Amino acid sequence: MADIIQLLPDHVANQIAAGEVVQRPASVVKELLENAVDAGASNIKLVIKDAGKRLIQVIDDGVGMSQGDATACFNRHATSKISTAQDLFALNTKGFRGEALASIAAIAKVELKTRQQENELGTHVKIEGSKIVSQESCVTNVGTIVSVKNLFYNIPARRNFLKSTNVELRHIIDQFHRVALAHPTIAFSFDNNDSALFNLPEANLKQRIIGVFGAKTKERLVPVHEKTELIEINGFVLKPEFAKKSRGDQYFFVNDRFIKSSYLHHAVLSAYEGLLAEKTNPGYILYLTISPEAIDINIHPTKTEIKFENEQAIYAVIRATVKHSLGQFSIAPVLDFNRDAALDTPYDYRQKTPKNPTIEVDPSFNPFKEEATKTSYGSSYRKPKPANWESLYTGFKQDENLSDAQIESLVFENSEADQPLFEQKTQPAYDNCFQLQAKYIASPIKSGLLLVHQNRAHERILYESFLSNAQTGDGISQQLLFPLELRLSKPDLTLLLTAKDSLDQLGFKISKIGDEAIFFEALPVKVGPTTIEQLIDDLLANLKDFVPSEQNTMHRLMAKAMANNLAIKSGQLLKKDEQKQLIHELFACNEPAFSPSNKVVFKTFSLEDLDKNF
Ligand code: ADP
Ligand code: MG
Repeated sequence: MADIIQLLPDHVANQIAAGEVVQRPASVVKELLENAVDAGASNIKLVIKDAGKRLIQVIDDGVGMSQGDATACFNRHATSKISTAQDLFALNTKGFRGEALASIAAIAKVELKTRQQENELGTHVKIEGSKIVSQESCVTNVGTIVSVKNLFYNIPARRNFLKSTNVELRHIIDQFHRVALAHPTIAFSFDNNDSALFNLPEANLKQRIIGVFGAKTKERLVPVHEKTELIEINGFVLKPEFAKKSRGDQYFFVNDRFIKSSYLHHAVLSAYEGLLAEKTNPGYILYLTISPEAIDINIHPTKTEIKFENEQAIYAVIRATVKHSLGQFSIAPVLDFNRDAALDTPYDYRQKTPKNPTIEVDPSFNPFKEEATKTSYGSSYRKPKPANWESLYTGFKQDENLSDAQIESLVFENSEADQPLFEQKTQPAYDNCFQLQAKYIASPIKSGLLLVHQNRAHERILYESFLSNAQTGDGISQQLLFPLELRLSKPDLTLLLTAKDSLDQLGFKISKIGDEAIFFEALPVKVGPTTIEQLIDDLLANLKDFVPSEQNTMHRLMAKAMANNLAIKSGQLLKKDEQKQLIHELFACNEPAFSPSNKVVFKTFSLEDLDKNF
């Protein structure tokens, strides 16, 4: 048979590559604005029509291009910004791949006018679908004008796929914000359908932020500044009372490049601890300056993630710095570095004769109370049912097959202590518990003794919580700074793929499945990068024998395997508050009596049972 492999023609290859770089009009806006910044412009004008579907034009007064470069720039991998691989580690420009103009020219009608200072005449190039249509000299200002018309004109499917004008415009505005905020000393303007949306003169950081977000922002800003050997942080955080339910006003710039990082977001969030209303996100615009060698932005042409060499240290500096700023501006008067006024000795006390100190003890003080949800087996997995579950404990029988009604009628011993021997404050029933052999949790109940198998109890709790996540798709995931790669055999990967939907719902975000590896960009909050390998192993083992049926769904299988893998084990010592939390959460479950693999979770021993032994 004759050879059948041939190289794709350039315009086809470019069209394919364009899919990577240009998802929507906003991607073109980003690339063109960044090229103008890289060209050293001091004034950049963005003009769009029809949310960029009809026209995207960027006009800059940067260095411009020579006649030769004016066409060369449309070649794939044509760049003036790096020449050796080594340059990648010292990037000071936005672009470096030389892909943007080639990609854009493959899927739109592009016109370029450009002139360098030393030339009297500039160059005018027209290119459509990667083909140069014309090139001639022209009169034009120093700098560059790129006009992109009829985006996706030659790929109707992509064009039809574009969202409404409003949505696309919103994306463009986001991109414009990012570039404008990263470069306050460059003047920007933005016209949409012939009306001015933004006009931002050269400014300092604060003025630029106010220019972008409006005058109301002014009194909301709290300045942030810190410089360490590793990193310099500048910028502003918003006062906690302006935190919003929606995400969106969070900006990190690393060396003037907008980045997204849930890890660093968490650092800021943790600095606001105790200051925010529930489920709100604080706004911030933070600029990090860090040596280019200590970061790697070379991940994906359109991705905004970057890798840091020293992420934990950066986390700590950000957290401390933001916390300090909030404290300094008296937004967080109770923060640790503020001295406690109660410690000040009033002046006239110095003359008084000292009295012996006395100690007052608060018998109801419970040191674990505040921290009750921060247990070592994870923070509250599920909200215990609001019902006062202690009252569920009454009249325990020694019966493994406890019915719901029986469970509901259980009552803890001292919640009904009708004739106390001593004056004592009633304590919640679950206060009365202790761990046996690091395996069981024992607690007195009215009719005798309750013994809970800690491992099975936790399995049950996790199982119900995972199952409900899987069914509702509520699995909360935590973004990883670097995609996590797990090497697996091809058959295992294929098998894992059959469970992709469940994994997704549970909060595993798979970014790529290759030939020999799977990449996760986010994991469920309860799954750490160190436990994932074992967990996937277990999942695979379960998947191999999986026969779906009405009772045996993929969701159940996943929830079961995860619960089994992540539950606290026998032999693990639990703190008092963890024991209490465990019992509490167990009895908030729908089926507390049995583990997901149908084993007994708890037993009760009546007083008679105990008496028999004496
Ligand atoms: P990259 O920015 O990754 O180098 P692009 O495809 O965006 O790749 O641009 C290719 C080259 O064209 C750039 O390296 C630069 O030399 C030149 N160029 C693009 N836009 C401009 C501009 N606005 N002003 C001057 N030169 C430009
Ligand atoms: Mg570029």
